[in-house]
Amino acid sequence: MFLLRINMNPIDRFLSKFAKQNSGNECWQWTASRTQQGYGMFSFQGKSIPAHRFAYEHYKGEIPDKHIVHQVCQNNCCVNPEHLIVCTKSESRLKYNSTRIHPDAKKLIQNIKERGPEELIDDFGFSKEV
Ligand SMILES: [Zn+2]
Repeated sequence: MFLLRINMNPIDRFLSKFAKQNSGNECWQWTASRTQQGYGMFSFQGKSIPAHRFAYEHYKGEIPDKHIVHQVCQNNCCVNPEHLIVCTKSESRLKYNSTRIHPDAKKLIQNIKERGPEELIDDFGFSKEV
């Protein structure tokens, strides 16, 4: 009986899947598979896990329970540890997640698209000659 080792060491595999930039400030773009939201995915020990979480654990250490890893650069496929922070979901929503839009704001944007901004200025009681 013999074992055929075709798998690379997971770290090497991980390191081969993004474009590491020499200057520390740039995003390291994940080039392997991604989710619909653009998050990089990495298969590790038979599971598919978000690449930025793997990056955080590899470079910085364990992610505390109930915490998420957030990219401060807002680039979902970035795995640069300098751009990764851990926070709770609610912290992330409050402080960092500017892409999540309040339902009222969504309606407003929809209205602007449908009717143009002129009428809305009236709705909100603002004068055009500000
Ligand atoms: Zn980044």
